Amino acid sequence: MSNMAIIKNNIDCPCGSGLLIQQCCIPDVLPITLNTQTRIKLNRQRMAQVVDDSGNHLGFIDLSQLGIKMQASLGKYEQIDPAIENAIYPAAKFHGILDKPKDFQEQYFKHLDALWDVLHAVRYHQRNFLFRLRKLIIEYSVDFSMVQPGEGVEITYDDVPLRLELESMILRLISTLDVFAKIAGTLMGKGFNQDKDLWSYLLATHKNKNRPVSSALYEIYTKYSWIRDLKGIRNAITHDAIFLGYTGMKFQDTLFSMPYVNELKSDHFAFRVWKELLQMTREILLTVTSKYESSF
Ligand SMILES: [Zn+2]
Repeated sequence: MSNMAIIKNNIDCPCGSGLLIQQCCIPDVLPITLNTQTRIKLNRQRMAQVVDDSGNHLGFIDLSQLGIKMQASLGKYEQIDPAIENAIYPAAKFHGILDKPKDFQEQYFKHLDALWDVLHAVRYHQRNFLFRLRKLIIEYSVDFSMVQPGEGVEITYDDVPLRLELESMILRLISTLDVFAKIAGTLMGKGFNQDKDLWSYLLATHKNKNRPVSSALYEIYTKYSWIRDLKGIRNAITHDAIFLGYTGMKFQDTLFSMPYVNELKSDHFAFRVWKELLQMTREILLTVTSKYESSF
Protein backbone atom coordinates (compact mmCIF):
# COMPACT_ATOMS: atom_id res chain seq x y z
CA MET A 1 0.00 0.00 0.00
CA SER A 2 2.98 2.30 -0.35
CA ASN A 3 1.10 4.08 -3.13
CA MET A 4 -1.23 5.50 -0.51
CA ALA A 5 1.46 7.13 1.64
CA ILE A 6 0.83 10.51 0.11
CA ILE A 7 -2.55 10.70 1.88
CA LYS A 8 -1.03 10.93 5.34
CA ASN A 9 -0.91 14.46 6.70
CA ASN A 10 1.56 14.06 9.51
CA ILE A 11 4.65 13.25 7.49
CA ASP A 12 7.53 15.52 6.57
CA CYS A 13 7.20 16.97 3.10
CA PRO A 14 9.27 15.03 0.53
CA CYS A 15 10.55 18.33 -0.86
CA GLY A 16 12.89 18.59 2.12
CA SER A 17 11.55 21.86 3.52
CA GLY A 18 11.23 20.39 7.02
CA LEU A 19 7.52 21.31 7.12
CA LEU A 20 4.68 18.85 7.42
CA ILE A 21 3.35 17.86 4.03
CA GLN A 22 0.02 19.67 4.39
CA GLN A 23 1.81 22.86 5.35
CA CYS A 24 4.02 22.66 2.29
CA CYS A 25 3.62 21.00 -1.10
CA ILE A 26 0.22 19.37 -0.55
CA PRO A 27 -1.98 21.97 1.14
CA ASP A 28 -5.30 21.11 2.78
CA VAL A 29 -6.85 24.00 0.92
CA LEU A 30 -6.03 25.03 -2.62
CA PRO A 31 -3.08 27.39 -2.77
CA ILE A 32 -3.41 31.04 -3.63
CA THR A 33 -1.08 33.04 -5.77
CA LEU A 34 -0.83 36.52 -7.20
CA ASN A 35 -2.09 37.35 -10.64
CA THR A 36 -2.71 40.61 -12.45
CA GLN A 37 -6.24 40.92 -11.09
CA THR A 38 -5.49 40.48 -7.42
CA ARG A 39 -3.17 42.02 -4.89
CA ILE A 40 -2.48 40.82 -1.42
CA LYS A 41 -1.89 43.17 1.46
CA LEU A 42 -0.55 41.83 4.71
CA ASN A 43 -1.83 43.21 7.98
CA ARG A 44 -0.18 42.95 11.37
CA GLN A 45 -2.17 39.86 12.21
CA ARG A 46 -0.52 38.17 9.25
CA MET A 47 -3.81 37.87 7.50
CA ALA A 48 -3.64 38.52 3.80
CA GLN A 49 -6.24 40.88 2.44
CA VAL A 50 -7.01 40.09 -1.18
CA VAL A 51 -8.04 43.11 -3.22
CA ASP A 52 -8.63 43.62 -6.92
CA ASP A 53 -6.88 46.23 -9.05
CA SER A 54 -9.37 48.92 -7.98
CA GLY A 55 -8.64 48.21 -4.33
CA ASN A 56 -11.97 46.48 -3.66
CA HIS A 57 -11.82 44.07 -0.77
CA LEU A 58 -12.21 40.46 -1.90
CA GLY A 59 -11.52 38.67 1.36
CA PHE A 60 -8.93 37.60 3.88
CA ILE A 61 -6.71 34.55 3.88
CA ASP A 62 -4.92 33.27 6.94
CA LEU A 63 -1.39 32.78 5.63
CA SER A 64 -0.32 30.85 8.72
CA GLN A 65 -2.88 28.18 7.79
CA LEU A 66 -1.17 27.80 4.45
CA GLY A 67 2.18 27.33 6.13
CA ILE A 68 3.56 30.57 4.73
CA LYS A 69 6.12 32.36 6.87
CA MET A 70 6.81 36.07 6.77
CA GLN A 71 10.33 37.18 5.97
CA ALA A 72 11.94 40.35 4.81
CA SER A 73 10.88 40.83 1.24
CA LEU A 74 12.79 42.22 -1.72
CA GLY A 75 10.77 45.38 -1.22
CA LYS A 76 8.45 45.43 -4.18
CA TYR A 77 6.54 42.27 -3.39
CA GLU A 78 4.90 40.90 -0.32
CA GLN A 79 6.33 37.63 0.87
CA ILE A 80 4.68 34.56 -0.60
CA ASP A 81 7.16 31.71 -0.60
CA PRO A 82 10.39 31.91 1.45
CA ALA A 83 12.05 29.17 -0.61
CA ILE A 84 11.70 31.27 -3.76
CA GLU A 85 12.94 34.39 -2.04
CA ASN A 86 15.94 32.50 -0.67
CA ALA A 87 16.76 31.31 -4.17
CA ILE A 88 16.57 34.80 -5.73
CA TYR A 89 17.76 37.01 -2.90
CA PRO A 90 21.55 36.52 -3.36
CA ALA A 91 21.24 37.74 -6.94
CA ALA A 92 19.08 40.69 -5.91
CA LYS A 93 21.80 41.70 -3.44
CA PHE A 94 24.52 41.45 -6.10
CA HIS A 95 26.48 44.65 -5.52
CA GLY A 96 28.35 44.85 -8.81
CA ILE A 97 25.07 45.67 -10.46
CA LEU A 98 24.83 49.02 -8.66
CA ASP A 99 27.90 50.32 -10.53
CA LYS A 100 26.24 49.66 -13.88
CA PRO A 101 24.22 52.11 -15.98
CA LYS A 102 20.63 52.65 -14.94
CA ASP A 103 19.04 51.03 -17.99
CA PHE A 104 21.25 47.97 -17.47
CA GLN A 105 20.09 47.73 -13.85
CA GLU A 106 16.47 48.08 -14.92
CA GLN A 107 16.88 45.24 -17.40
CA TYR A 108 18.51 43.04 -14.79
CA PHE A 109 15.85 43.63 -12.14
CA LYS A 110 13.09 43.22 -14.71
CA HIS A 111 14.41 39.72 -15.39
CA LEU A 112 14.64 38.96 -11.66
CA ASP A 113 11.00 40.06 -11.34
CA ALA A 114 10.08 37.71 -14.17
CA LEU A 115 11.96 34.90 -12.45
CA TRP A 116 10.05 35.62 -9.23
CA ASP A 117 6.74 35.42 -11.10
CA VAL A 118 7.50 32.27 -13.04
CA LEU A 119 8.83 30.39 -10.01
CA HIS A 120 5.62 31.21 -8.17
CA ALA A 121 3.67 29.97 -11.19
CA VAL A 122 5.55 26.65 -11.12
CA ARG A 123 4.92 26.39 -7.39
CA TYR A 124 1.23 27.19 -7.83
CA HIS A 125 0.67 24.46 -10.40
CA GLN A 126 2.77 21.98 -8.46
CA ARG A 127 0.64 22.48 -5.36
CA ASN A 128 -2.61 22.36 -7.33
CA PHE A 129 -1.49 19.17 -9.03
CA LEU A 130 -0.53 17.46 -5.78
CA PHE A 131 -3.69 18.70 -4.05
CA ARG A 132 -5.92 17.27 -6.77
CA LEU A 133 -3.95 14.04 -6.91
CA ARG A 134 -4.46 13.49 -3.20
CA LYS A 135 -8.14 14.37 -3.50
CA LEU A 136 -8.66 11.84 -6.31
CA ILE A 137 -6.79 9.15 -4.41
CA ILE A 138 -8.98 9.66 -1.35
CA GLU A 139 -12.26 9.76 -3.33
CA TYR A 140 -11.59 6.78 -5.55
CA SER A 141 -10.02 4.71 -2.81
CA VAL A 142 -13.34 4.98 -0.99
CA ASP A 143 -15.39 4.23 -4.12
CA PHE A 144 -13.44 1.10 -4.91
CA SER A 145 -13.20 -0.21 -1.37
CA MET A 146 -16.34 -2.28 -1.95
CA VAL A 147 -14.65 -4.29 -4.68
CA GLN A 148 -13.15 -7.53 -3.41
CA PRO A 149 -9.55 -8.39 -4.23
CA GLY A 150 -9.41 -10.67 -7.23
CA GLU A 151 -12.53 -9.30 -8.90
CA GLY A 152 -10.35 -7.86 -11.60
CA VAL A 153 -11.39 -4.25 -11.70
CA GLU A 154 -9.03 -2.37 -13.94
CA ILE A 155 -9.88 1.16 -14.94
CA THR A 156 -7.57 3.87 -16.17
CA TYR A 157 -8.85 7.24 -15.19
CA ASP A 158 -7.19 10.11 -17.00
CA ASP A 159 -8.28 13.09 -14.94
CA VAL A 160 -8.24 16.12 -17.22
CA PRO A 161 -7.76 18.84 -14.56
CA LEU A 162 -4.95 16.81 -13.01
CA ARG A 163 -3.27 16.47 -16.34
CA LEU A 164 -3.70 20.17 -17.12
CA GLU A 165 -2.05 21.17 -13.86
CA LEU A 166 0.87 18.92 -14.69
CA GLU A 167 1.16 20.38 -18.19
CA SER A 168 0.90 23.93 -16.83
CA MET A 169 3.67 23.20 -14.38
CA ILE A 170 5.88 21.83 -17.15
CA LEU A 171 5.27 24.84 -19.42
CA ARG A 172 6.21 27.21 -16.57
CA LEU A 173 9.33 25.18 -15.87
CA ILE A 174 10.39 25.77 -19.47
CA SER A 175 9.60 29.49 -19.06
CA THR A 176 11.91 29.52 -16.06
CA LEU A 177 14.73 28.26 -18.26
CA ASP A 178 14.00 31.10 -20.69
CA VAL A 179 14.30 33.63 -17.86
CA PHE A 180 17.63 32.10 -16.81
CA ALA A 181 18.82 32.72 -20.38
CA LYS A 182 17.72 36.36 -20.23
CA ILE A 183 19.50 36.94 -16.91
CA ALA A 184 22.70 35.30 -18.12
CA GLY A 185 22.45 37.16 -21.43
CA THR A 186 22.04 40.53 -19.71
CA LEU A 187 25.12 39.95 -17.58
CA MET A 188 27.13 38.60 -20.51
CA GLY A 189 26.01 41.35 -22.86
CA LYS A 190 24.38 38.78 -25.16
CA GLY A 191 20.86 38.82 -26.50
CA PHE A 192 19.62 35.49 -25.22
CA ASN A 193 15.85 35.40 -25.33
CA GLN A 194 15.32 31.70 -24.96
CA ASP A 195 16.88 28.79 -23.22
CA LYS A 196 17.85 27.30 -26.57
CA ASP A 197 19.88 30.45 -27.41
CA LEU A 198 21.82 30.13 -24.16
CA TRP A 199 22.22 26.39 -24.62
CA SER A 200 23.73 26.68 -28.12
CA TYR A 201 26.09 29.38 -26.81
CA LEU A 202 27.17 27.13 -23.94
CA LEU A 203 27.70 24.20 -26.29
CA ALA A 204 29.93 26.34 -28.48
CA THR A 205 31.94 28.03 -25.73
CA HIS A 206 32.06 25.93 -22.57
CA LYS A 207 35.50 24.49 -23.36
CA ASN A 208 37.01 27.94 -23.78
CA LYS A 209 39.12 28.61 -20.68
CA ASN A 210 38.60 32.33 -21.10
CA ARG A 211 34.89 31.80 -20.57
CA PRO A 212 34.56 30.54 -16.99
CA VAL A 213 30.88 31.51 -16.76
CA SER A 214 30.07 29.43 -19.84
CA SER A 215 31.87 26.43 -18.36
CA ALA A 216 30.13 26.81 -15.03
CA LEU A 217 26.69 27.24 -16.60
CA TYR A 218 27.31 24.29 -18.91
CA GLU A 219 28.14 22.12 -15.88
CA ILE A 220 24.96 23.22 -14.13
CA TYR A 221 22.76 22.59 -17.17
CA THR A 222 24.17 19.12 -17.82
CA LYS A 223 23.77 18.18 -14.14
CA TYR A 224 19.99 18.60 -14.27
CA SER A 225 18.99 15.83 -16.65
CA TRP A 226 15.25 16.51 -16.18
CA ILE A 227 15.66 19.55 -18.45
CA ARG A 228 15.94 17.21 -21.45
CA ASP A 229 12.81 15.32 -20.35
CA LEU A 230 10.89 18.55 -19.86
CA LYS A 231 11.72 19.81 -23.31
CA GLY A 232 10.46 16.57 -24.81
CA ILE A 233 7.24 16.84 -22.85
CA ARG A 234 6.81 20.51 -23.72
CA ASN A 235 7.24 19.74 -27.41
CA ALA A 236 4.77 16.90 -27.19
CA ILE A 237 2.21 19.19 -25.54
CA THR A 238 2.66 22.23 -27.76
CA HIS A 239 3.29 20.57 -31.12
CA ASP A 240 1.33 17.34 -30.97
CA ALA A 241 -1.17 18.31 -28.26
CA ILE A 242 -0.49 14.95 -26.67
CA PHE A 243 2.03 13.61 -24.24
CA LEU A 244 2.38 9.86 -24.49
CA GLY A 245 4.76 9.75 -21.52
CA TYR A 246 1.82 10.52 -19.25
CA THR A 247 -0.33 7.61 -18.14
CA GLY A 248 -3.46 8.08 -16.10
CA MET A 249 -4.26 6.50 -12.78
CA LYS A 250 -5.14 2.84 -12.70
CA PHE A 251 -7.43 0.93 -10.40
CA GLN A 252 -6.78 -2.76 -10.13
CA ASP A 253 -8.30 -5.01 -7.50
CA THR A 254 -9.02 -1.88 -5.42
CA LEU A 255 -5.33 -1.04 -5.25
CA PHE A 256 -4.48 2.37 -6.50
CA SER A 257 -1.59 3.41 -8.72
CA MET A 258 -0.33 6.90 -9.34
CA PRO A 259 -0.33 8.48 -12.77
CA TYR A 260 3.09 8.32 -14.31
CA VAL A 261 5.27 10.83 -16.14
CA ASN A 262 7.85 9.13 -18.30
CA GLU A 263 7.58 6.07 -16.06
CA LEU A 264 8.22 8.12 -12.93
CA LYS A 265 5.43 8.42 -10.37
CA SER A 266 3.94 11.82 -10.98
CA ASP A 267 4.06 12.95 -7.34
CA HIS A 268 7.76 12.08 -7.21
CA PHE A 269 8.21 13.95 -10.47
CA ALA A 270 6.44 17.05 -9.09
CA PHE A 271 8.41 17.05 -5.83
CA ARG A 272 11.76 16.29 -7.43
CA VAL A 273 11.58 18.82 -10.24
CA TRP A 274 10.46 21.63 -7.94
CA LYS A 275 13.23 20.95 -5.43
CA GLU A 276 15.85 20.71 -8.15
CA LEU A 277 14.58 23.82 -9.90
CA LEU A 278 15.14 25.88 -6.75
CA GLN A 279 18.62 24.42 -6.34
CA MET A 280 19.40 25.14 -9.98
CA THR A 281 18.11 28.71 -9.60
CA ARG A 282 20.54 29.32 -6.73
CA GLU A 283 23.44 27.80 -8.63
CA ILE A 284 22.81 29.75 -11.81
CA LEU A 285 22.26 33.10 -10.13
CA LEU A 286 25.30 32.74 -7.89
CA THR A 287 27.42 31.66 -10.85
CA VAL A 288 26.48 34.42 -13.25
CA THR A 289 26.56 37.19 -10.63
CA SER A 290 29.73 36.16 -8.76
CA LYS A 291 31.76 35.62 -11.93
CA TYR A 292 30.26 38.50 -13.80
CA GLU A 293 32.72 41.26 -13.04
CA SER A 294 35.89 39.23 -13.39
CA SER A 295 34.90 37.53 -16.60
CA PHE A 296 33.34 39.89 -19.08
ZN1 LIG B 1 7.21 20.62 0.31
